[in-house]
Amino acid sequence: MSVDAKIIARLKEAMGPKGFTEEPAEIAPHLEEWRGRYHGQSQLLLKPANASDVGRALAICNETKTPVVPQGGNTGLVGGQIPFHGEVLLSLERMNKVRGVDAQGLHMIAEAGVILANAHAAADEAGCLFPLSLASEGSCTIGGNLSTNAGGVDVLRYGNMRELTLGIEVVLADGTLLDMLRTLRKDNTGYDLKQLFIGAEGTLGIVTAAALKLFPKPAAYVTAMVALPSPAAAIALLTDLQHATGGLLSAFEIIPRIGMELVTAHIPGSSDPFAAPSPWYALVEASVPEGLDLRASIERQLGKSIEAGRATDAVIAASEAQRKSLWRLRENMSEAQKLEGASIKHDVSVPVARIPDFLQAASSGVQQIVPGARVVAFGHAGDGNIHFNISVPKGGDGKAFLAKWEAVSRGVHDIVNDMGGSISAEHGLGAMKHNEIARYKSKDELAAMRTIKRALDPNNILNPGKVLPD
Ligand code: FAD
Repeated sequence: MSVDAKIIARLKEAMGPKGFTEEPAEIAPHLEEWRGRYHGQSQLLLKPANASDVGRALAICNETKTPVVPQGGNTGLVGGQIPFHGEVLLSLERMNKVRGVDAQGLHMIAEAGVILANAHAAADEAGCLFPLSLASEGSCTIGGNLSTNAGGVDVLRYGNMRELTLGIEVVLADGTLLDMLRTLRKDNTGYDLKQLFIGAEGTLGIVTAAALKLFPKPAAYVTAMVALPSPAAAIALLTDLQHATGGLLSAFEIIPRIGMELVTAHIPGSSDPFAAPSPWYALVEASVPEGLDLRASIERQLGKSIEAGRATDAVIAASEAQRKSLWRLRENMSEAQKLEGASIKHDVSVPVARIPDFLQAASSGVQQIVPGARVVAFGHAGDGNIHFNISVPKGGDGKAFLAKWEAVSRGVHDIVNDMGGSISAEHGLGAMKHNEIARYKSKDELAAMRTIKRALDPNNILNPGKVLPD
């Protein structure tokens, strides 16, 4: 699809000289995502400086039925930010101001293009914490985080982006600006419209700014790696530690033995903290306020778990350097798996108590489709979100293995669905799973979603072909 020259001229005029580019070299990095999995095309990249620019651009696009793909940091993992059919790209990168931080009210207002790490820095400067924590934080943006309802490692304690959002500013498909940048903790004045746009992956409106919840900055962290006999032991430990810390655990990540082996083999400087191998590990962390000795409580609980045989060993970080080296083992799981060869990935969630059953059923299902495939299932067990990744069999042909992606995913997703889980826990549907979801959501739920889409974007200009099934 190519956009009519007259429409391009109108958009350029509306945006002003700094508000667009047609330079292929400047557009190119926006057309490919970081893994090189999805490739797009677009002849025009809009770069609005403020919400009024966005409004003018969308009014023209809506009138002329010109499709638009919004883009933040281009770190999305389901292709939602890629213009596959020559759509106009709209990048929020110039809208990158933190408009204000209120340390007393514990909130901040950030524009959509603010990079997550910069939002962290602004909160930190005011003695506060903005807790959304993703490995992509140096590139991903507040608008993208909001639009994907991003999760990450601290959801257990602080919630995902939906729970961290107090208000938003959003431009509708026809260019109308909805200023809902309220910072209230209580506001029962009818429909909570902001919720529609959170997790909508740019299909219902363009988010231009957000009011975000802040938290008191923790005085310290207690971080431990625990060796465990099984996933069931991991879930028991999660419950025990939640009770022992009064619910102050912020992260509970699981790693299988094969994950530890891949990281220590492929990532220079990483080492197994234990003398003996263990089938499973949990990386646990609690963020601790001044004056509270959670380390003692966690140590006591770990001692009890080891005595009862529910854990076999544990190390507690004694310094920030040790904490970082424990986290590096977890953070390098994807990289190590990439270096090991081809992999098939899933971002799924099940009720926390069903994780052991899920891992067992899905692992044996995979073996039936690809004998010898190596399951590297890891991630945010504390909130039920498992990155159920599978590496090519040792010495196997990567291409032949990847050709089984669809069959493997179908089996995994069916098991997830049977257990009351979700086929997309934190990455969204985008272009990757927008048709797959038709299998798992009820017809009535999908019909309600389409009704909302039609009401807010009757000309289907906002990120068409994403989220909703064809
Ligand atoms: P983009 O990729 O640019 O866009 C994502 C989606 O949002 C697209 O559909 C796009 O159209 C839409 N969009 C972007 N900006 C706007 C806007 N202003 N208004 C409306 N729609 C918009 N995700 C997690 O949840 N948890 C993780 O732990 C995690 N870890 C990751 C680690 C790595 C190494 C990488 C590369 C990615 C990871 N992700 C994770 C995925 C990704 O970082 C998140 O989905 C992130 O929220 C995307 O933000 P972004 O600014 O890059 O958005």
